[in-house]
Amino acid sequence: MEIKKLGEFGLIERLTSLLKIEDKDVVVGFGDDCACVNIEGKLILFSSDIQIEEVHFIKEKISPEDLGWKLISVNVSDIVACGGKARWGLISIAVPENIELEYIQRVYTGIKDALDFYKFSIIGGNTSRSDKIVLDFFITGETKRFISRSGAKEGDYIYVSGHTGLSRAGLELLLMDKERYEEWEKKIIFFHTRPVARIDFVDTVQNANSCIDISDGLVGDLGHVEKQSKVKIVLEKEKLPVHPLLEKFCKTYNKNPYEYILYGGEDYQLAFTTPEKQDKGFLIGYVERGKGIFLKDKNKISKLQERGFEHI
Ligand code: MG
Ligand code: MG
Repeated sequence: MEIKKLGEFGLIERLTSLLKIEDKDVVVGFGDDCACVNIEGKLILFSSDIQIEEVHFIKEKISPEDLGWKLISVNVSDIVACGGKARWGLISIAVPENIELEYIQRVYTGIKDALDFYKFSIIGGNTSRSDKIVLDFFITGETKRFISRSGAKEGDYIYVSGHTGLSRAGLELLLMDKERYEEWEKKIIFFHTRPVARIDFVDTVQNANSCIDISDGLVGDLGHVEKQSKVKIVLEKEKLPVHPLLEKFCKTYNKNPYEYILYGGEDYQLAFTTPEKQDKGFLIGYVERGKGIFLKDKNKISKLQERGFEHI
């Protein structure tokens, strides 16, 4: 069978079913933003994320510095989604032989900027040859309490740490191949090429019942929370934050902003559910008993289609 028929999650399911975790120190295995082990009372997080040329990025469309920054940010985002702080990383790079040294050095400048910003270190890695640029990052972190995708409870409030949809709009702008971009358009593109993991939300996430970072889109990722927590999720349309730049983009290009807010990927914001109201983030809905994700628009409730964001 060709694996494209299975989809990403089907493939993960088939493969992980071949492995069995029998180690009692493993607190969380497959299926969350990070795996977690208990080492003498300390909860250590592990995760990895890859950037592959022409799958996750197009070389001509992102500066090498931004690529390096993004590689680190998307990994830190998964650590933060579990309530943790990044500690150490390992990097594996595979590149074509004829690539300019300067290009790789510029990628590493972006990586260095990100490490300084997120305050952790790369302590090892591996290099190899490849037809396309492949950057794989393995990250470890520490957390006081593991915040999972499966802890959402009936009665919880649902929050998002910031605006969603801008990254997808930025990607679409990049793919338009315009000769000249307006200043406001450049600002939107920045959300796509230079995402920032929400390390400023770690304390808030520590008080949450569940959390996930938004890499595949708000609805797609909340779908994991809904299924793994076995709850019903209701989003309230009038509470979903619409960024003024997204509004401008949608007016200019005749698009529906909610398509971007609900289904746009790669924002690396956090969606979390809490038993009490929070002062940080945007309150966007609530958790009920049942299943499925719904959008409440005034008094009308409709079921949202759960589809994720396909990379490029
Ligand atoms: Mg994640
Ligand atoms: Mg990830």
